[in-house]
Amino acid sequence: MSAPPEQGRFRIAVVGAGPAGFYLTERLLSRDDLEVDLFDRLPAPYGLVRYGVAPDHEKIRNVTRVFDRIAASPRFRFFGNVEIGRHLTLEDLHRHYDQVAFTTGAQTDRRMGIPGEDLRGSHAATEFVAWYNGHPDFCDRAFDLSVERVVVVGVGNVAVDVARILCRTPQELEHTDIADHALAALRASRVREVVMLGRRGPAQAAFTNAEVKELGELAGADVRVLPDDLALDPVSQVALEAEDGAATRKKLEILTQFSRRPRTGKPRVLTLRFLVSPLELIGDADGRVRRVRLVRNRLEPADRSPRAVATDQVEHLDAGLVFRSVGYRGVPIVGLPFDHRRGVVPNAAGRVVDPDTGHPIPRCYVAGWIKRGPFGVIGTNKSDAAGTAEAMLADLVAGGPRPLDPTAAGALALVQGVQAAFVSYPDWMRVQAVETERGAAAGRPRVRFTSAAELLAVRRSPG
Ligand code: NAP
Repeated sequence: MSAPPEQGRFRIAVVGAGPAGFYLTERLLSRDDLEVDLFDRLPAPYGLVRYGVAPDHEKIRNVTRVFDRIAASPRFRFFGNVEIGRHLTLEDLHRHYDQVAFTTGAQTDRRMGIPGEDLRGSHAATEFVAWYNGHPDFCDRAFDLSVERVVVVGVGNVAVDVARILCRTPQELEHTDIADHALAALRASRVREVVMLGRRGPAQAAFTNAEVKELGELAGADVRVLPDDLALDPVSQVALEAEDGAATRKKLEILTQFSRRPRTGKPRVLTLRFLVSPLELIGDADGRVRRVRLVRNRLEPADRSPRAVATDQVEHLDAGLVFRSVGYRGVPIVGLPFDHRRGVVPNAAGRVVDPDTGHPIPRCYVAGWIKRGPFGVIGTNKSDAAGTAEAMLADLVAGGPRPLDPTAAGALALVQGVQAAFVSYPDWMRVQAVETERGAAAGRPRVRFTSAAELLAVRRSPG
């Protein structure tokens, strides 16, 4: 039989240091016989709060102070720059931890599934987001901003972020923490128009009201909505009356105000279009995207929400750059089952389950987007993580097999053996202090280290 818990403590590994990972850690640490080690494949913690939230939304990033407070617990350790599936396996973790929870999010994007999607100049919006936020894996990406018109497919909040950043003036961006390479590229941008394409009507648009309202407040871009796109079809009318439609009514009000605005002559135009879908991206002889073939849609009633159905009205829109922003997607975790249709790990209230038997797989859990899919704001992960924590704590109380070596020293030796260049939380706090210091000198919240090598060099430098 395995050893008893060190000092009466249970030890838990949480994999993925984004909001779900921190909120889960917080709930677990509320029991003082628990210790948590939080792993991330990147050297920096915070996940999408660092690499997803737009640089001009600095206030949203303040939540990292909450994460830092959670990390201050003496029963917490961070192992950044350690990848499960590369440096360590799930079995390695099970040898040293009572339970393992994955909070790895949704690390890739959904595709549109249309011809021409792989032409040069056609990108996932998530790549652009990671690039302007200085994600080490995306720093070397190049986006051709010498083009006149950019199309963004999708009308969710990520699409809004991308469109807004493309329309911001250099003066609006230079006091943010946008990556330096992105600031330089956006300064030289010759983009004149950004067109967002919604496949359904304005009433079904996924963006939230605060986010869309902000599009009407840009210093360098006029927002444009075609009045015809706002005529509410009977299907939306019925749906709106059936639901508690206050937020939708507000959204329509904002869009109606936009549609009535005259052009003021700002250098850029941001156009929001509805009831259109791309059918194909058309390239030139060099394989670069040049045009988008679009079809006009109409709405049909469907189970939960009206769905878009193509009509026979087709049009073409010139565009030199296309971003698909049609949602994130989870990726499989080695050693765990995966629901390929939904892009999540099959689970029951956070307990990973075998899809064939429906039985829980012992000591394996999930929280956040990899548990429920890529929906909701940062705070949604708090209640989501609470559900998983409840299941984990109930299983600990119920008892069961213990790890072979449940000691903190054993887990540390394991990590040191495979990745000596791991980043601890004190290391991270030093990096963060240097980023903030560099920012203060430039009137910015921080100047980010964008390469992993740079960040690792700073983490243990004296002083
Ligand atoms: P999302 O909210 O799910 O939006 C996806 C968009 O893509 C929808 O407009 C969807 O239209 C459209 N779409 C899907 N498949 C399509 C297709 N084949 N062709 C054309 N359009 C298609 O996803 P997201 O924008 O990636 O955001 C993910 C989550 O992060 C959301 O919960 C979002 O609110 C959150 N987030 C929040 C903020 C913020 O608070 N500031 C910022 C960024 C992200 P349908 O509705 O017709 O499916």
